[in-house]
Amino acid sequence: MTRPSENLAAETLAARLARPDILALPPCDVAGPPLPGTIRLDANENPYAALVAGQPTINRYPDPQPAALRQRLADLYGVAPACLWVARGSDDAIDLLVRAFCRAGQDYIAIVEPTFSAYGQFARVQGAGVIAARLTDDFAFDAESVLATVTPSAPKLLFLCTPNNPTGNAIDPVDIRWIAAALPNTLIVVDEAYGEFCDAPSLATEATGNLVVLRTLSKAYGLAGARIGCVIAAPEIIDLLAKVSPPYPLPTPSIAAALDALGPERMPLHAARIERLLAERATLAGRLANAAEIDRVREGGNFLFLEVADPGDLARRLVAAAVRVRFRPSAAPGGVRVTVGTESENAALLAAFGIAASAPASRRADIVRDTKETRIALSLDLDQAEPRRIDSGIPFYDHMLDQVAAHGGFSLVLACSGDLGIDPHHSVEDIALALGAALKQALGDKRGIGRFGFALPMDETSAEVLVDLSGRPFAKFDGSFSTAAVGGLPTEMVPHIFRSLADSMGAAIHVKVAGDNDHHKVEACFKAFGRALRSGLSLEGGRDALPSTKGVL
Ligand SMILES: *Cc1c(COP(=O)(O)O)cnc(C)c1O
Repeated sequence: MTRPSENLAAETLAARLARPDILALPPCDVAGPPLPGTIRLDANENPYAALVAGQPTINRYPDPQPAALRQRLADLYGVAPACLWVARGSDDAIDLLVRAFCRAGQDYIAIVEPTFSAYGQFARVQGAGVIAARLTDDFAFDAESVLATVTPSAPKLLFLCTPNNPTGNAIDPVDIRWIAAALPNTLIVVDEAYGEFCDAPSLATEATGNLVVLRTLSKAYGLAGARIGCVIAAPEIIDLLAKVSPPYPLPTPSIAAALDALGPERMPLHAARIERLLAERATLAGRLANAAEIDRVREGGNFLFLEVADPGDLARRLVAAAVRVRFRPSAAPGGVRVTVGTESENAALLAAFGIAASAPASRRADIVRDTKETRIALSLDLDQAEPRRIDSGIPFYDHMLDQVAAHGGFSLVLACSGDLGIDPHHSVEDIALALGAALKQALGDKRGIGRFGFALPMDETSAEVLVDLSGRPFAKFDGSFSTAAVGGLPTEMVPHIFRSLADSMGAAIHVKVAGDNDHHKVEACFKAFGRALRSGLSLEGGRDALPSTKGVL
């Protein structure tokens, strides 16, 4: 825990703007994590392990601000841990800010409508006033008019949401800096809940003085249920928030979930998912623009704002079609907000407008596989050739897996944190198992009909790979190597890789390789496997009734 008194003793902006009673409050009386070996008889916890599978330690109170999570979030947003407060979602962060700075019946917050309703809600709960500026009729952010509207009430906090929920527009950072300079006695709270979905740079690294930034793991990182968000601000503001925060705000399982989801080997998958959501958003927007009843489609974050003549009626009809969307008659009367969903969910939305989906759902798989030895995150799409981003920790293996995906004609994003310091064995094997499981999942049930193969010469080497998706794992490797390793990949692992693939795909895989050069031989096996997969993926009309997106197979 930080020690609030030190930073707040000085005549800081935080001290000037804070509620005096909060400033005078002693720091919250909670203990941080105990020193190792300490017997914990201080907090009246139950000493017995919790009767919850996988969560034996939740009989103990969590660390109020776990150092590892604080550090990970600080790294993620490029700031110092002392400038960051981890809250129970950014909703909670908004509440903490309002309670720390706004005296009931006296102070104001300012918002720019239409916007996220929680700002006004928390202010009203606290008994603070709400002064509302407005976006222009075209939902543009007019900095001068905002300033003119809010200045007379000298708000303690001005909430700026960028990209804005629900209209999708981003605010130019230049405007935000200008407003921050023009309102030196107001905290400018920039809510970047959808920052990952937009090109504008984050203001997190500029969050000093009266600039405060909110971030969340709920949207881009898919952790809405864990309730983890944060405030990024000058340390004295963070110290003040510590005083109004509940003593143990973060549940132990949520702390673990956040650290898990933000593991380095998960980051490429997050990036790929954000790209996919943005691509889906663009496709969806393009198709909905053709609906006669929609006047305008706005895009932002991971959502669309559909402007229609009668949004209430539209929202009701969509609900009747079992599609729930957001309509706020008072906050945003001109339209409905629709979240970008999975391909099939988006197809259902389009169907509700009488628009047929343009393509059948693609054959995809996301796999997360963690053991004590390796942590692997992998995503592939059999109907997309890109992206291919592979980081196994073993460069030559990356190259081989890239050959499989490239020759197989599918996208592959794969990252692994493994115990390479001990041996490449676990990483090599576990990645093969994860890849096989992903291929099996994406291929669906092809049992009995999925037989395919490919033979390939490479200079003096020849390789042949036969695959039968029989559901019965079997691997046969006919060939041998004379060197111990090629580019850090032990050659003894090559037959093992195909066995692991066979096991997890539920396939029979026969590999035959002959030649003089081990590098050629290893590479030829992977290429031939990729080629065999390519023919297998197109077998039995995998995308039947559909023009292939990949050209000639
Ligand atoms: C969803 C949303 C939040 C809430 O985030 P949590 O971290 O889940 O509380 C905050 N601000 C905006 C603008 C949002 O749309």
